[in-house]
Amino acid sequence: MEFKEVYCMNCKKVLGRYNIKFYDDDKISELLKTTHSLHVKSGHQINIKKFEKS
Ligand SMILES: [Zn+2]
Repeated sequence: MEFKEVYCMNCKKVLGRYNIKFYDDDKISELLKTTHSLHVKSGHQINIKKFEKS
């Protein structure tokens, strides 16, 4: 399964890991505007990378 990992460069922590089956790019950007908006509003740099997990 493929996942997307949302990582905050400023807080140096993983904000969430999302299965790309259920979270497409639109859903991820929606999450950045809602669930993780605190980081975005603070000007934190969010890094999204894909990784695979069996
Ligand atoms: Zn942050």
